[in-house]
Amino acid sequence: MFLSNRDFPNPFCYIGDMSEHPVIFDTTDGQQLRINMIGSWLKRRFGRKIVKLSIDGGFTCPNRDGTKGTGGCLFCSGSGSGDMASSIGSVSADQIRLALNDQIWLLSDKWPQAGYIAYFQNHTNTYAPAEHLRDLFTAALGQPVVSGLAIATRSDCISDEVLDLLEELDRQTFLWVELGLQTIHDETARAMNLCHTLADYDYAVARLHSRGIRTVTHLIAGLPGESRRMMLESVKHVCQPLHDHSSHLFGLKLHMLNVVRSSALPLEYPGYVPFESIDDYTDFVVEALELVPPDITIHRISGDAPRRDLIAPEWSWQKRTILNEIHRKMRERNTWQGRRSSF
Ligand code: SF4
Repeated sequence: MFLSNRDFPNPFCYIGDMSEHPVIFDTTDGQQLRINMIGSWLKRRFGRKIVKLSIDGGFTCPNRDGTKGTGGCLFCSGSGSGDMASSIGSVSADQIRLALNDQIWLLSDKWPQAGYIAYFQNHTNTYAPAEHLRDLFTAALGQPVVSGLAIATRSDCISDEVLDLLEELDRQTFLWVELGLQTIHDETARAMNLCHTLADYDYAVARLHSRGIRTVTHLIAGLPGESRRMMLESVKHVCQPLHDHSSHLFGLKLHMLNVVRSSALPLEYPGYVPFESIDDYTDFVVEALELVPPDITIHRISGDAPRRDLIAPEWSWQKRTILNEIHRKMRERNTWQGRRSSF
């Protein structure tokens, strides 16, 4: 049974331009969505399925090369961080074009009408001179079916030159910048060796927003020493209206800590388990989503660590089960994203 709009009285559901701020409870196919998932948002925005293609631009990370720290964030896996990263310039614009072509070719049978977003995901994707970044990002955008760019980075790695470049790209294409915050609590950030602070994050968000650039924030739930209240404080902080009070963050990526073999975390916190059960984790996610304004797109609510690398939670690889359980609980409780948001 579909619920009527009156069942969703939050005014955030009805404001804005449909192409940019979809009405999340009233979609084109008549379904009502309790979560503003980015996949559905992109489909409405572009009028077709949009697939993210993960690209390795050969970047390293200042939290591994000694600029900000060494050893990396405690939860960062060797293969996903600076350990295995190449030096700047080791990946050329031609290699970016080839890597994208290969992935598009592989997916074209499955989704012949799809568009693509080139997602610079590995390591810190603005940690290089702006001219080198321009070469790589422009190469990705040169592919006719690539409709946009997603660039993952650290809050403390956006120089003025990089910000100018991002603004320029934002005028040419659909762009978002992903910032790995993980927690607003600086004591946890120190314990996890993140080597950045909440002040770095707030400053980066303000600068990106002042240039009109969409921002997606990455939070990790279940970091050692954090209570549920602390995790929800992180969610509330990043969901506050941005400094001109006219809008929110574009997106939120939220998932449980995954303790993986190749990271330093199991040595520093032996036996640590972030959430006891799927029930425990999904209860947290439902509570957190109720605090997230409905115009904020949700980019992830489950982990995606490879099963072979995973130590804890040992159920974290069961992505479909976790997502189904979140949706089931939201239906059962007749709740939705933003229901308890005060912003
Ligand atoms: S998680 Fe990101 S910032 Fe932290 S060490 Fe790994 S690549 Fe660097």
